[in-house]
Amino acid sequence: MSIDTPLFEVLRTSDYENLIWCQEKSVGLQALIAIHDTTLGPAAGGVRMYPYESEQRALDDVLRLARGMTYKAAAAGANLGGGKCVVLGDPKRGESEALFRTLGRFIERLGGLYIAGEDVGTTAQDLALVGLETRHVFSLPAEEEVAHFTAFGVVQGMRACLQHVSGSADLQGRTVAVQGVGAVGSDVVRRLVEAGAMVTVAETDQDRLAQITKSYPVTAVPVQELHARPVDVYCPCALGAVLNERTLPELRCKIVCGAANNQLATEECGDRIAEQGILYAPDYIVNAGGLLAYADGQQPGGFNRARALAAVERIAETTQRVLALAKEHQLPTYRAADQLAEQRIAAVGQAKTVATGWGR
Ligand code: NAD
Repeated sequence: MSIDTPLFEVLRTSDYENLIWCQEKSVGLQALIAIHDTTLGPAAGGVRMYPYESEQRALDDVLRLARGMTYKAAAAGANLGGGKCVVLGDPKRGESEALFRTLGRFIERLGGLYIAGEDVGTTAQDLALVGLETRHVFSLPAEEEVAHFTAFGVVQGMRACLQHVSGSADLQGRTVAVQGVGAVGSDVVRRLVEAGAMVTVAETDQDRLAQITKSYPVTAVPVQELHARPVDVYCPCALGAVLNERTLPELRCKIVCGAANNQLATEECGDRIAEQGILYAPDYIVNAGGLLAYADGQQPGGFNRARALAAVERIAETTQRVLALAKEHQLPTYRAADQLAEQRIAAVGQAKTVATGWGR
């Protein structure tokens, strides 16, 4: 056993509800499922498969990511809690039908406490295998693309930021630098161009770059230059930690608003960007569109496109609320986002106590 942290200490540090260890030697499955908070509903979270260098790293990751999902779902107004599953292994070598079906059986045993989705290292096909053994898997109808809901939400968040900074949410004539034109970024570009924005892109994958410059009137710049462009909005849609000690002094945008998860390298970077007078749209607020689409599919009667789009459209309102809270209390926006999420969990938790007359 190479885990250093005492296990109940791990749960206590941030009020986790459960930590489930799953093992099936015959198929080589080792997985951890963390349930952070289910006040608002079943714990939602992706299944991440990664060749962790140690069990401690896997534990740290599952805990951090589960907590993040609680905040994301709460702030987005979804009736979901936060959870996560990590599978210890190399997605390029370790995947097998038996492994994902076995994971599905573990998830089924939890009786709906945890609902699984895709994440780094797993695909829709892997989740379909999980779904052969359990109903508790997020899915959308085959013709729907989750990244398009995420992209729609990012653009809604961007409009709210523009409204806040300039008094108009109009994208016509705005300059936007989009980093990464993968599943989400390419659809963000499409929406921006259609709304009349002037778009600059950077992308490491040359095929994707060629595709986007062929399809839309966008300007391509080298990857290492994009964040320093003098634009209205810098829109990270590739990697995390893009707002760091090195990039912050080079930023020349008014707003940062993009889909990438964990854009702030550290919380201090969130404080610094506010001090620089740049409006940072908290990533988990504006990239919740995909989660909201999945949440819609959990409703009785299943997925309803118009209802899902209406929920994603409200990311503009949520962003406005975060920005107003930050302004009112003189907080960096990332802290305001956390407060919004915590307030909703506390209020619903209180309501549940009242309804039952005793602790939830
Ligand atoms: P993706 O893998 O389809 O696209 C990412 C793109 O970024 C790829 O084309 C990649 O080549 C490119 N890239 C990598 N490094 C780069 C760099 N340094 N500069 C420029 N381009 C670079 O991923 P995605 O599904 O589009 O997700 C993008 C981001 O949004 C990720 O951080 C993801 O976690 C986050 N996110 C995605 C969703 C979703 O619905 N897919 C939801 C929430 C958050």
